[in-house]
Amino acid sequence: MSRVLVIGCGGVASVAIRKCCQADDVFTELCIASRTKSKCDALAKALEGKTKTVVTTAQVNADNVQEVVDLINSYKPDLVMNIALPYQDLVIMDACLICGVNYMDTANYEPEDTDDPEWRAIYEKRCKEKGFSAYFDYSWQWAYKEKFEKAGLTALLGCGFDPGVTQAYCAYAKKHEFDTIDTIDILDCNGGDHGYAFATNFNPEVNLREVSAPGSYIENGKWVEIPAMSIKREYDFDSVGMKDMYLLHHEELESLAVNIPEVKRIRFFMTFGQSYLTHMKCLENVGMLSTTPVMFEGHEIVPIKFLKELLPDPASLGPRTHGKTNIGCIFTGKKDGQDKTYYIYNVCDHQECYKEVESQAISYTTGVPAMCGALMLLTGKWTEKGVHTVEEFDPDPFLDALDKFGLPRRENFKPVLVD
Ligand code: NDP
Repeated sequence: MSRVLVIGCGGVASVAIRKCCQADDVFTELCIASRTKSKCDALAKALEGKTKTVVTTAQVNADNVQEVVDLINSYKPDLVMNIALPYQDLVIMDACLICGVNYMDTANYEPEDTDDPEWRAIYEKRCKEKGFSAYFDYSWQWAYKEKFEKAGLTALLGCGFDPGVTQAYCAYAKKHEFDTIDTIDILDCNGGDHGYAFATNFNPEVNLREVSAPGSYIENGKWVEIPAMSIKREYDFDSVGMKDMYLLHHEELESLAVNIPEVKRIRFFMTFGQSYLTHMKCLENVGMLSTTPVMFEGHEIVPIKFLKELLPDPASLGPRTHGKTNIGCIFTGKKDGQDKTYYIYNVCDHQECYKEVESQAISYTTGVPAMCGALMLLTGKWTEKGVHTVEEFDPDPFLDALDKFGLPRRENFKPVLVD
């Protein structure tokens, strides 16, 4: 029996909400609140008669702490699931602290305005000190650790697939398969085809910022940064086949380096087709990925926001995307004094997802873990207070829930390694 407030009603939130409604014994009441209330109403209507969960809707601007506080105080949820955008993370965490409610999200904080001089000064200091230049990092949300601990509350960060399930895979490997882990390679393959020359599978602004940034990885406790897309490998993925993949910076590298400090090297690879990369490079070269406002015919516009309006809505890709995703982690290390390798991953089919929840697999593979993370918090399986990433919790009940709710694990004890 629980009341949950979901903030955001985009591609990922829609899947998470539909999945919560499948577990209506736990998610007994759910409020969908977002900037555009009509989207929440449409989803609530689509769920009518399909679930025992009592679904209500609300309008909220989650850039405003007081609006979120008022909503929490009026709905009185046991948990707030932030599935809006990373820009809202700190505002919603502040509101949860004020109201005394547990918090979770699917992506770590980054500011909407990367030209803000106050933020920029801190960012530039961090780039020098830590050695990676992505706009997002955990320092902003980790700064809330003590406040959440003292309030006796839990904040679960980054509970999608990657970040999220990939860290649970690491915790699982550490708990069951290895005495010590030497290397982790996280491989994110999307073998899906939506038929457009160019589209992004989740929020275009967040997605394009991420993939156009320099890549980085951890080696012997230090960040190594490389030009964007400059390390390329080929890998033969189960159920997908041979794909080109590129080394990217990714948020879970940062927390894994802290929480599994013995690991000598942690890398993240994502597959991209040539058409995607050519379009992205061209858009970047002409300035369309910029977040700095420009004047156009007397109006101020932010190029990347304008681009978002032109690109297909990721939520509309579901019916036309065919193929599979394959996301997981390859480990090397030692068990009982012997060298060992291990690969744990999930394969997800875009059309199967669409049949079940009217969404493609990228939103599905993020929304299902968000729902399963909420399930862990609401059923008392994960109880640590403070601010935590997924690898800090017991992976077993979470992976069991993923097996049950649509993202079953697969294992390979003799995987081909990435050189
Ligand atoms: P969408 O753009 O589809 O949806 C975002 C939603 O948030 C929309 O409903 C939007 O409202 C709402 N929103 C935006 N700003 C505000 C605001 N100020 N107040 C209230 N609501 C707001 O994004 P996605 O569903 O693709 O992504 C959701 C999150 O999931 C992102 O943080 C993304 O980074 C993360 N993600 C995580 C992954 C993982 O594996 N961990 C993978 C993919 C995504 P409106 O409809 O009005 O625009």
